[in-house]
Amino acid sequence: MMVSLETNLPAFANDIRDVMRMMLPGARVCESCDGADARLTHSHVESDGLWRERCEYGGASFEWRVPIPTPDGQTPELFALREKRLMKRAAKQCCYYLLRDITGRIPPWGALTGIRPTRLYAERLADADPDPERSLIRQYDVRPDKAVLLGEISRAQSPFLTVPPNAVDIYVGIPYCVSKCAYCSFKTETIPRDPRKIDAYVDALVYEIQQTRRMMDEAGLSPRALYMGGGTPTALDALRLDRALTALDAAFPDVMEYTVEAGRPDTLDEARLTVLRRHPVTRVSINPQTMNDVTLELIGRGHTAAQTVESFERARALGFGNINMDLIAALPGETADDFENTLSAVRGLNPESLTVHTLALKRASRLHENESFVAADAETAESMIAQGMEAARAMDMAPYYLYRQKQMAGDLENVGYAKPGYICVYNIDMMEETVSILALGAGGISKRVRRDPREGLRIERAANMMESHRYIGQVREMVERKRGLWGLV
Ligand code: SF4
Repeated sequence: MMVSLETNLPAFANDIRDVMRMMLPGARVCESCDGADARLTHSHVESDGLWRERCEYGGASFEWRVPIPTPDGQTPELFALREKRLMKRAAKQCCYYLLRDITGRIPPWGALTGIRPTRLYAERLADADPDPERSLIRQYDVRPDKAVLLGEISRAQSPFLTVPPNAVDIYVGIPYCVSKCAYCSFKTETIPRDPRKIDAYVDALVYEIQQTRRMMDEAGLSPRALYMGGGTPTALDALRLDRALTALDAAFPDVMEYTVEAGRPDTLDEARLTVLRRHPVTRVSINPQTMNDVTLELIGRGHTAAQTVESFERARALGFGNINMDLIAALPGETADDFENTLSAVRGLNPESLTVHTLALKRASRLHENESFVAADAETAESMIAQGMEAARAMDMAPYYLYRQKQMAGDLENVGYAKPGYICVYNIDMMEETVSILALGAGGISKRVRRDPREGLRIERAANMMESHRYIGQVREMVERKRGLWGLV
Protein backbone atom coordinates (compact mmCIF):
# COMPACT_ATOMS: atom_id res chain seq x y z
CA MET A 1 0.00 0.00 0.00
CA MET A 2 1.27 3.49 -0.87
CA VAL A 3 0.57 6.29 1.59
CA SER A 4 1.21 9.98 0.95
CA LEU A 5 1.42 12.97 3.29
CA GLU A 6 -0.10 16.41 2.96
CA THR A 7 1.06 19.04 5.46
CA ASN A 8 1.08 22.82 5.71
CA LEU A 9 4.53 22.56 7.35
CA PRO A 10 6.54 21.19 4.39
CA ALA A 11 9.84 21.83 6.22
CA PHE A 12 8.90 18.99 8.59
CA ALA A 13 7.43 16.62 6.00
CA ASN A 14 10.39 14.22 6.14
CA ASP A 15 10.20 14.08 9.94
CA ILE A 16 6.46 13.32 9.85
CA ARG A 17 7.10 10.66 7.19
CA ASP A 18 9.65 9.03 9.51
CA VAL A 19 6.85 8.60 12.06
CA MET A 20 4.53 7.24 9.38
CA ARG A 21 7.16 4.68 8.28
CA MET A 22 7.63 3.56 11.87
CA MET A 23 3.90 3.30 12.59
CA LEU A 24 2.81 1.82 9.23
CA PRO A 25 5.59 -0.74 8.66
CA GLY A 26 3.78 -2.58 5.86
CA ALA A 27 3.14 0.58 3.85
CA ARG A 28 5.32 2.44 1.38
CA VAL A 29 5.35 6.04 2.50
CA CYS A 30 6.14 7.98 -0.64
CA GLU A 31 7.52 11.48 -0.96
CA SER A 32 5.83 12.51 -4.16
CA CYS A 33 3.45 9.89 -5.42
CA ASP A 34 0.46 10.05 -7.69
CA GLY A 35 -2.19 7.47 -7.11
CA ALA A 36 -1.36 6.71 -3.47
CA ASP A 37 -3.84 4.32 -1.83
CA ALA A 38 -4.24 6.52 1.24
CA ARG A 39 -3.25 9.95 2.47
CA LEU A 40 -2.42 11.33 5.90
CA THR A 41 -3.08 15.04 6.29
CA HIS A 42 -1.48 17.26 8.90
CA SER A 43 -2.24 20.91 9.61
CA HIS A 44 -0.66 23.39 11.98
CA VAL A 45 -2.76 26.34 13.22
CA GLU A 46 -1.96 28.94 15.88
CA SER A 47 -4.84 30.28 18.00
CA ASP A 48 -5.50 31.33 21.62
CA GLY A 49 -1.82 30.99 22.55
CA LEU A 50 -1.72 27.40 21.33
CA TRP A 51 -0.24 25.44 18.48
CA ARG A 52 -3.01 23.15 17.27
CA GLU A 53 -1.72 20.18 15.31
CA ARG A 54 -4.35 18.14 13.56
CA CYS A 55 -3.82 14.84 11.74
CA GLU A 56 -6.36 12.81 9.78
CA TYR A 57 -5.99 9.33 8.33
CA GLY A 58 -8.45 6.65 7.25
CA GLY A 59 -11.47 8.54 8.60
CA ALA A 60 -9.92 9.08 12.06
CA SER A 61 -8.47 12.33 13.40
CA PHE A 62 -6.38 13.53 16.31
CA GLU A 63 -5.59 16.98 17.70
CA TRP A 64 -2.49 17.80 19.72
CA ARG A 65 -2.24 21.16 21.49
CA VAL A 66 0.94 22.80 22.74
CA PRO A 67 1.32 26.24 24.40
CA ILE A 68 3.19 28.56 22.03
CA PRO A 69 6.69 29.01 23.52
CA THR A 70 8.07 32.39 24.56
CA PRO A 71 11.70 33.64 24.21
CA ASP A 72 12.44 33.65 27.99
CA GLY A 73 15.57 35.80 27.53
CA GLN A 74 16.95 33.80 24.63
CA THR A 75 18.51 35.57 21.66
CA PRO A 76 16.23 35.73 18.58
CA GLU A 77 18.46 33.17 16.78
CA LEU A 78 18.37 30.70 19.64
CA PHE A 79 14.65 31.18 20.16
CA ALA A 80 14.01 30.58 16.45
CA LEU A 81 15.94 27.29 16.67
CA ARG A 82 14.05 26.21 19.79
CA GLU A 83 10.71 27.15 18.28
CA LYS A 84 11.48 25.14 15.16
CA ARG A 85 12.51 22.13 17.22
CA LEU A 86 9.35 22.25 19.37
CA MET A 87 7.08 22.75 16.38
CA LYS A 88 8.60 19.75 14.64
CA ARG A 89 8.14 17.63 17.76
CA ALA A 90 4.49 18.69 18.09
CA ALA A 91 3.74 17.74 14.47
CA LYS A 92 5.42 14.34 14.93
CA GLN A 93 3.65 13.66 18.22
CA CYS A 94 0.26 14.42 16.65
CA CYS A 95 0.94 11.99 13.80
CA TYR A 96 2.26 9.37 16.22
CA TYR A 97 -0.74 9.43 18.57
CA LEU A 98 -3.22 9.28 15.69
CA LEU A 99 -1.49 6.24 14.16
CA ARG A 100 -1.06 4.61 17.57
CA ASP A 101 -4.82 4.88 18.12
CA ILE A 102 -5.55 3.42 14.70
CA THR A 103 -2.96 0.62 14.63
CA GLY A 104 -2.54 -0.15 18.33
CA ARG A 105 1.20 -0.22 17.65
CA ILE A 106 3.45 1.08 20.45
CA PRO A 107 7.14 1.02 19.44
CA PRO A 108 9.78 0.77 22.21
CA TRP A 109 10.80 4.42 21.81
CA GLY A 110 7.25 5.71 21.37
CA ALA A 111 7.10 8.84 19.22
CA LEU A 112 10.88 9.28 19.14
CA THR A 113 12.53 8.75 15.76
CA GLY A 114 15.80 10.69 16.30
CA ILE A 115 19.32 9.30 16.52
CA ARG A 116 20.09 10.62 20.01
CA PRO A 117 17.32 10.05 22.56
CA THR A 118 19.96 10.68 25.24
CA ARG A 119 19.96 14.33 24.17
CA LEU A 120 16.27 14.65 24.98
CA TYR A 121 16.99 13.27 28.44
CA ALA A 122 19.87 15.76 28.87
CA GLU A 123 17.55 18.57 27.75
CA ARG A 124 15.09 17.60 30.48
CA LEU A 125 17.86 17.60 33.08
CA ALA A 126 19.05 21.02 31.88
CA ASP A 127 15.48 22.32 32.28
CA ALA A 128 15.60 21.10 35.93
CA ASP A 129 12.94 18.46 35.26
CA PRO A 130 12.74 16.51 38.56
CA ASP A 131 11.74 13.29 36.77
CA PRO A 132 12.99 13.16 33.14
CA GLU A 133 12.08 9.48 32.81
CA ARG A 134 8.46 10.13 33.67
CA SER A 135 8.34 13.09 31.27
CA LEU A 136 9.62 10.98 28.39
CA ILE A 137 7.10 8.27 29.14
CA ARG A 138 4.20 10.72 29.38
CA GLN A 139 5.05 13.06 26.52
CA TYR A 140 6.63 10.73 23.98
CA ASP A 141 5.17 7.38 24.98
CA VAL A 142 8.70 5.99 25.54
CA ARG A 143 8.47 2.54 27.10
CA PRO A 144 9.41 2.66 30.81
CA ASP A 145 12.39 0.27 30.46
CA LYS A 146 13.85 2.46 27.70
CA ALA A 147 13.39 5.60 29.79
CA VAL A 148 15.15 3.88 32.71
CA LEU A 149 17.98 2.87 30.33
CA LEU A 150 18.39 6.51 29.30
CA GLY A 151 18.61 7.49 32.97
CA GLU A 152 21.31 4.90 33.63
CA ILE A 153 23.30 6.02 30.59
CA SER A 154 22.94 9.66 31.55
CA ARG A 155 24.42 8.94 34.99
CA ALA A 156 27.29 6.92 33.46
CA GLN A 157 28.12 9.76 31.08
CA SER A 158 27.89 12.64 33.52
CA PRO A 159 31.59 12.59 34.66
CA PHE A 160 32.65 12.95 31.02
CA LEU A 161 30.34 15.74 29.90
CA THR A 162 32.21 18.68 31.36
CA VAL A 163 35.10 19.31 29.04
CA PRO A 164 37.59 22.22 28.82
CA PRO A 165 36.54 24.56 25.98
CA ASN A 166 39.83 24.07 24.11
CA ALA A 167 39.62 20.24 24.07
CA VAL A 168 39.12 18.47 20.73
CA ASP A 169 38.90 14.82 19.74
CA ILE A 170 40.84 13.51 16.77
CA TYR A 171 39.21 11.12 14.30
CA VAL A 172 41.37 9.41 11.68
CA GLY A 173 39.62 7.60 8.83
CA ILE A 174 41.09 4.78 6.78
CA PRO A 175 38.58 4.26 3.95
CA TYR A 176 39.73 0.77 2.95
CA CYS A 177 38.29 -2.66 3.78
CA VAL A 178 39.41 -6.11 2.72
CA SER A 179 35.93 -6.74 1.26
CA LYS A 180 32.46 -5.27 1.51
CA CYS A 181 30.09 -6.64 4.16
CA ALA A 182 26.54 -7.09 2.85
CA TYR A 183 24.87 -4.98 5.57
CA CYS A 184 27.32 -2.08 5.31
CA SER A 185 26.11 1.28 4.03
CA PHE A 186 29.38 3.17 4.54
CA LYS A 187 31.23 4.40 1.50
CA THR A 188 34.32 2.22 1.79
CA GLU A 189 36.81 1.05 -0.82
CA THR A 190 38.46 -2.30 -1.28
CA ILE A 191 42.12 -1.97 -0.31
CA PRO A 192 44.02 -1.26 -3.57
CA ARG A 193 46.30 -3.96 -4.95
CA ASP A 194 48.78 -1.34 -6.10
CA PRO A 195 50.88 -0.41 -3.02
CA ARG A 196 51.69 2.97 -4.58
CA LYS A 197 48.05 3.97 -4.18
CA ILE A 198 48.13 3.06 -0.49
CA ASP A 199 51.41 4.95 -0.09
CA ALA A 200 49.81 8.01 -1.68
CA TYR A 201 46.97 7.78 0.84
CA VAL A 202 49.30 7.43 3.83
CA ASP A 203 51.45 10.32 2.52
CA ALA A 204 48.38 12.56 2.32
CA LEU A 205 47.24 11.45 5.78
CA VAL A 206 50.65 12.12 7.35
CA TYR A 207 50.62 15.59 5.78
CA GLU A 208 47.14 16.27 7.17
CA ILE A 209 48.16 14.99 10.63
CA GLN A 210 51.16 17.33 10.75
CA GLN A 211 49.24 20.35 9.46
CA THR A 212 46.36 19.69 11.86
CA ARG A 213 48.73 19.70 14.82
CA ARG A 214 50.15 23.02 13.60
CA MET A 215 46.68 24.45 13.29
CA MET A 216 45.74 23.21 16.77
CA ASP A 217 48.75 24.97 18.24
CA GLU A 218 47.76 28.20 16.47
CA ALA A 219 44.18 27.91 17.77
CA GLY A 220 45.25 26.82 21.29
CA LEU A 221 43.47 23.46 20.99
CA SER A 222 44.36 20.46 23.10
CA PRO A 223 43.75 16.82 21.99
CA ARG A 224 41.53 14.71 24.24
CA ALA A 225 40.68 11.32 22.63
CA LEU A 226 41.99 9.82 19.41
CA TYR A 227 39.95 7.34 17.38
CA MET A 228 41.16 5.60 14.25
CA GLY A 229 38.25 4.08 12.35
CA GLY A 230 37.02 3.58 8.83
CA GLY A 231 36.68 1.34 6.91
CA THR A 232 39.13 -0.98 8.54
CA PRO A 233 42.38 0.67 9.70
CA THR A 234 44.04 -2.74 9.89
CA ALA A 235 43.33 -3.29 6.19
CA LEU A 236 46.62 -1.36 5.90
CA ASP A 237 49.63 -3.67 6.03
CA ALA A 238 51.93 -3.48 9.04
CA LEU A 239 54.44 -1.15 7.39
CA ARG A 240 51.91 1.45 6.31
CA LEU A 241 49.93 1.17 9.53
CA ASP A 242 53.18 1.87 11.36
CA ARG A 243 53.82 4.99 9.27
CA ALA A 244 50.37 6.40 10.01
CA LEU A 245 50.61 5.64 13.75
CA THR A 246 54.13 7.07 13.99
CA ALA A 247 52.84 10.37 12.57
CA LEU A 248 49.93 10.31 15.04
CA ASP A 249 52.22 9.63 18.04
CA ALA A 250 54.46 12.56 17.06
CA ALA A 251 51.54 14.94 16.56
CA PHE A 252 49.35 13.90 19.49
CA PRO A 253 51.54 12.41 22.22
CA ASP A 254 49.24 13.62 24.98
CA VAL A 255 45.80 12.05 24.34
CA MET A 256 43.86 10.50 27.23
CA GLU A 257 42.54 7.64 25.06
CA TYR A 258 43.73 6.08 21.79
CA THR A 259 41.43 3.62 20.02
CA VAL A 260 42.13 1.69 16.84
CA GLU A 261 39.08 0.01 15.41
CA ALA A 262 40.65 -3.17 14.13
CA GLY A 263 37.19 -4.26 13.04
CA ARG A 264 37.65 -7.29 10.86
CA PRO A 265 39.30 -10.09 12.87
CA ASP A 266 40.87 -11.52 9.69
CA THR A 267 43.15 -8.47 9.44
CA LEU A 268 44.63 -8.92 12.91
CA ASP A 269 47.77 -10.92 12.24
CA GLU A 270 50.82 -10.95 14.50
CA ALA A 271 52.60 -8.24 12.47
CA ARG A 272 49.78 -5.68 12.63
CA LEU A 273 49.01 -6.35 16.29
CA THR A 274 52.72 -5.99 17.10
CA VAL A 275 52.71 -2.61 15.35
CA LEU A 276 49.66 -1.50 17.34
CA ARG A 277 51.38 -2.60 20.52
CA ARG A 278 54.53 -0.59 19.71
CA HIS A 279 52.41 2.56 19.67
CA PRO A 280 50.52 3.97 22.65
CA VAL A 281 47.18 2.49 21.50
CA THR A 282 45.04 2.04 24.62
CA ARG A 283 41.97 0.34 23.16
CA VAL A 284 41.27 -1.92 20.18
CA SER A 285 37.97 -3.11 18.79
CA ILE A 286 37.75 -6.65 17.40
CA ASN A 287 34.31 -7.10 15.90
CA PRO A 288 32.80 -10.56 15.40
CA GLN A 289 29.25 -9.24 14.64
CA THR A 290 28.15 -12.88 15.07
CA MET A 291 29.93 -16.11 16.04
CA ASN A 292 27.76 -18.11 13.65
CA ASP A 293 29.79 -19.14 10.56
CA VAL A 294 26.72 -19.62 8.37
CA THR A 295 25.63 -16.03 9.03
CA LEU A 296 29.18 -14.72 8.61
CA GLU A 297 29.24 -16.25 5.15
CA LEU A 298 25.78 -14.89 4.33
CA ILE A 299 26.66 -11.31 5.31
CA GLY A 300 29.99 -11.42 3.46
CA ARG A 301 32.24 -10.88 6.47
CA GLY A 302 34.99 -13.02 4.97
CA HIS A 303 36.13 -14.47 8.31
CA THR A 304 35.09 -17.25 10.64
CA ALA A 305 34.19 -17.34 14.31
CA ALA A 306 37.41 -19.28 14.95
CA GLN A 307 39.42 -16.39 13.43
CA THR A 308 37.76 -13.98 15.86
CA VAL A 309 38.82 -16.17 18.78
CA GLU A 310 42.37 -16.47 17.41
CA SER A 311 42.70 -12.70 16.88
CA PHE A 312 41.30 -11.96 20.32
CA GLU A 313 43.67 -14.41 22.02
CA ARG A 314 46.60 -13.09 19.99
CA ALA A 315 45.78 -9.55 21.09
CA ARG A 316 45.54 -10.62 24.73
CA ALA A 317 48.84 -12.54 24.49
CA LEU A 318 50.50 -9.38 23.15
CA GLY A 319 49.23 -7.45 26.18
CA PHE A 320 46.11 -5.62 25.00
CA GLY A 321 44.11 -5.07 28.17
CA ASN A 322 41.23 -3.04 26.74
CA ILE A 323 39.37 -4.81 23.94
CA ASN A 324 35.91 -3.95 22.64
CA MET A 325 33.71 -6.29 20.61
CA ASP A 326 30.80 -5.29 18.35
CA LEU A 327 27.80 -7.54 17.71
CA ILE A 328 24.73 -7.19 15.50
CA ALA A 329 21.34 -8.47 16.67
CA ALA A 330 18.60 -9.49 14.20
CA LEU A 331 20.93 -10.62 11.40
CA PRO A 332 19.08 -12.51 8.62
CA GLY A 333 18.25 -16.08 9.49
CA GLU A 334 19.46 -15.85 13.10
CA THR A 335 17.33 -17.00 16.00
CA ALA A 336 17.48 -16.04 19.65
CA ASP A 337 19.42 -19.29 20.22
CA ASP A 338 22.01 -18.29 17.59
CA PHE A 339 22.45 -14.97 19.32
CA GLU A 340 22.77 -16.71 22.67
CA ASN A 341 25.59 -18.84 21.20
CA THR A 342 27.35 -15.69 20.03
CA LEU A 343 26.98 -14.09 23.46
CA SER A 344 28.21 -17.22 25.15
CA ALA A 345 31.37 -17.22 22.97
CA VAL A 346 31.92 -13.52 23.72
CA ARG A 347 31.50 -14.16 27.46
CA GLY A 348 34.18 -16.83 27.14
CA LEU A 349 36.57 -14.22 25.70
CA ASN A 350 35.59 -11.64 28.32
CA PRO A 351 36.25 -8.30 26.56
CA GLU A 352 36.31 -5.01 28.50
CA SER A 353 33.46 -3.53 26.48
CA LEU A 354 30.71 -4.69 24.16
CA THR A 355 28.56 -2.83 21.66
CA VAL A 356 25.28 -4.48 20.74
CA HIS A 357 23.89 -3.09 17.48
CA THR A 358 20.49 -3.84 16.00
CA LEU A 359 20.55 -4.54 12.28
CA ALA A 360 19.54 -1.50 10.24
CA LEU A 361 18.77 -2.35 6.64
CA LYS A 362 20.03 0.83 4.98
CA ARG A 363 19.22 1.48 1.33
CA ALA A 364 22.90 1.69 0.39
CA SER A 365 23.63 -1.86 1.60
CA ARG A 366 23.57 -5.09 -0.40
CA LEU A 367 21.29 -6.70 2.20
CA HIS A 368 18.66 -4.08 1.42
CA GLU A 369 18.83 -4.81 -2.32
CA ASN A 370 18.38 -8.56 -1.86
CA GLU A 371 14.79 -9.34 -1.00
CA SER A 372 15.66 -12.82 0.27
CA PHE A 373 17.52 -11.23 3.20
CA VAL A 374 15.05 -10.44 5.94
CA ALA A 375 16.02 -9.15 9.35
CA ALA A 376 14.73 -11.06 12.37
CA ASP A 377 11.19 -9.99 13.33
CA ALA A 378 10.61 -7.31 15.96
CA GLU A 379 9.93 -9.80 18.74
CA THR A 380 13.13 -11.77 18.08
CA ALA A 381 15.15 -8.56 17.74
CA GLU A 382 13.72 -7.37 21.07
CA SER A 383 14.62 -10.65 22.73
CA MET A 384 18.19 -10.49 21.35
CA ILE A 385 18.67 -6.94 22.62
CA ALA A 386 17.53 -8.09 26.08
CA GLN A 387 19.91 -11.08 25.88
CA GLY A 388 22.74 -8.70 24.94
CA MET A 389 22.06 -6.56 27.99
CA GLU A 390 21.91 -9.60 30.25
CA ALA A 391 25.22 -10.92 28.89
CA ALA A 392 26.88 -7.51 29.29
CA ARG A 393 25.70 -7.24 32.89
CA ALA A 394 26.92 -10.79 33.56
CA MET A 395 30.37 -9.55 32.47
CA ASP A 396 30.10 -6.68 34.98
CA MET A 397 29.42 -4.12 32.24
CA ALA A 398 26.98 -1.23 32.33
CA PRO A 399 25.45 0.74 29.43
CA TYR A 400 27.19 4.06 28.70
CA TYR A 401 26.17 5.23 25.23
CA LEU A 402 23.23 4.70 22.94
CA TYR A 403 22.11 5.76 19.52
CA ARG A 404 19.46 4.84 17.02
CA GLN A 405 19.33 4.67 13.24
CA LYS A 406 16.62 4.57 10.66
CA GLN A 407 15.25 1.20 9.50
CA MET A 408 16.40 -0.64 12.62
CA ALA A 409 14.81 -4.04 13.25
CA GLY A 410 12.05 -3.65 15.84
CA ASP A 411 12.71 0.14 16.01
CA LEU A 412 15.30 -0.64 18.67
CA GLU A 413 18.74 0.83 19.41
CA ASN A 414 22.50 0.34 19.56
CA VAL A 415 23.99 0.26 23.06
CA GLY A 416 27.61 0.39 24.20
CA TYR A 417 28.44 -1.38 27.48
CA ALA A 418 31.70 -1.22 29.42
CA LYS A 419 33.25 -2.58 32.57
CA PRO A 420 34.08 0.02 35.25
CA GLY A 421 37.03 2.12 34.06
CA TYR A 422 36.69 1.08 30.39
CA ILE A 423 34.19 3.59 29.03
CA CYS A 424 35.25 4.92 25.61
CA VAL A 425 35.26 8.69 26.01
CA TYR A 426 35.32 9.27 22.25
CA ASN A 427 32.04 7.39 21.82
CA ILE A 428 30.35 9.65 24.38
CA ASP A 429 31.87 12.83 22.93
CA MET A 430 30.78 11.92 19.43
CA MET A 431 27.25 10.86 20.30
CA GLU A 432 26.48 13.65 22.75
CA GLU A 433 28.25 16.29 20.62
CA THR A 434 29.86 17.83 23.68
CA VAL A 435 33.34 18.12 22.14
CA SER A 436 34.65 19.43 18.81
CA ILE A 437 36.12 16.83 16.49
CA LEU A 438 38.96 17.28 14.02
CA ALA A 439 38.49 14.58 11.41
CA LEU A 440 41.39 13.49 9.24
CA GLY A 441 41.42 11.18 6.25
CA ALA A 442 38.90 10.43 3.50
CA GLY A 443 35.25 10.74 4.55
CA GLY A 444 35.98 12.47 7.88
CA ILE A 445 33.67 15.27 9.00
CA SER A 446 35.14 17.82 11.40
CA LYS A 447 32.74 19.48 13.82
CA ARG A 448 33.20 22.65 15.80
CA VAL A 449 30.89 22.50 18.80
CA ARG A 450 30.14 25.72 20.65
CA ARG A 451 27.94 26.11 23.68
CA ASP A 452 26.92 29.50 24.95
CA PRO A 453 24.29 30.23 27.62
CA ARG A 454 22.67 32.84 25.35
CA GLU A 455 23.43 31.39 21.95
CA GLY A 456 22.89 27.74 22.91
CA LEU A 457 24.49 24.83 21.03
CA ARG A 458 26.02 25.62 17.65
CA ILE A 459 27.69 23.01 15.49
CA GLU A 460 29.58 23.87 12.31
CA ARG A 461 30.95 21.17 10.05
CA ALA A 462 33.68 20.78 7.45
CA ALA A 463 33.78 17.56 5.42
CA ASN A 464 36.78 15.90 3.83
CA MET A 465 36.47 14.36 0.38
CA MET A 466 34.86 10.94 0.54
CA GLU A 467 36.81 9.08 -2.15
CA SER A 468 40.47 8.34 -1.42
CA HIS A 469 41.76 9.61 -4.79
CA ARG A 470 39.98 12.94 -4.32
CA TYR A 471 41.20 13.19 -0.76
CA ILE A 472 44.79 12.56 -1.89
CA GLY A 473 44.53 15.19 -4.63
CA GLN A 474 42.85 17.81 -2.43
CA VAL A 475 44.39 17.20 0.99
CA ARG A 476 45.66 20.80 1.21
CA GLU A 477 42.11 22.03 0.79
CA MET A 478 40.98 19.62 3.55
CA VAL A 479 43.46 21.28 5.91
CA GLU A 480 42.25 24.74 4.87
CA ARG A 481 38.64 23.75 5.54
CA LYS A 482 39.55 22.78 9.10
CA ARG A 483 41.50 26.00 9.60
CA GLY A 484 38.49 27.95 8.32
CA LEU A 485 36.27 26.27 10.90
CA TRP A 486 38.42 27.84 13.62
CA GLY A 487 38.71 31.19 11.83
CA LEU A 488 42.35 30.69 10.82
CA VAL A 489 43.17 31.93 7.32
S1 SF4 B 1 34.45 -4.01 7.72
FE1 SF4 B 1 33.07 -2.47 8.55
S2 SF4 B 1 33.34 -0.67 7.24
FE2 SF4 B 1 34.22 -2.43 6.13
S3 SF4 B 1 32.58 -3.16 4.81
FE3 SF4 B 1 32.48 -4.36 6.72
S4 SF4 B 1 31.05 -3.22 8.01
FE4 SF4 B 1 31.63 -1.84 6.36
